[in-house]
Amino acid sequence: MGAKVVLATHNAGKLRELREILRGRIEGLDVDTDVVSAAEVSLPDVVEDGVTFAENSLLKARAAASESGLIAIADDSGLAVDVLGGAPGIFSARWAGQHGDDTANLNLLLAQLADIAEEHRGARFMCAASLATPKGETAVEHGELPGILLREPRGEGGFGYDPILAPTELTGELAGKSCAEIGAEVKNSMSHRARAFTALIPHLQKALAVK
Ligand code: IMP
Repeated sequence: MGAKVVLATHNAGKLRELREILRGRIEGLDVDTDVVSAAEVSLPDVVEDGVTFAENSLLKARAAASESGLIAIADDSGLAVDVLGGAPGIFSARWAGQHGDDTANLNLLLAQLADIAEEHRGARFMCAASLATPKGETAVEHGELPGILLREPRGEGGFGYDPILAPTELTGELAGKSCAEIGAEVKNSMSHRARAFTALIPHLQKALAVK
């Protein structure tokens, strides 16, 4: 049987993470064979000119669905810092000017917040997950991982801003650790992406049922 769902990303890590989130949770969907990445069905890159995470994730899902004829799911995510009014937000990947330079992005943010006291260093990872069908139906769900920004990067794991965000909901020996110090399993169990895609599951179930 052919693929049923395309994940509109070229990021292999996201595809792996999403397969684990969906595994065993949707009747009739084999996540290893029924879910493919953008690369496997060769989709064009989409200009992300939306101004919210939801708009950008919908742009990607809609384009992938109409191009592939499959149900498409996509996400858009970033870091929202309280004292910066939600920035870097949709500009998270290019905050220091060059797309995807994680170290420069993180160092610029730490410099901007150098004089900000502990109680004002709140921030959260945010994710919008979207679904679009070839017929044009859409759904969007959100997920968040709130935390406190550290004063310097800590930990070797993860990517992006992981080394400077300490999730507030960590307890016991994990309390105060950064997302780069807690391991992929713990991070993925509580991440903004996991939460947004988990909320999207009922919409995916419905779309697969009517297909
Ligand atoms: P995108 O959704 O892949 O476009 O991610 C946008 C940017 O947000 C990334 O380049 C990272 O800088 C940041 N980001 C999103 N999710 C995470 C995360 O889980 N950890 C660290 N940084 C993240």
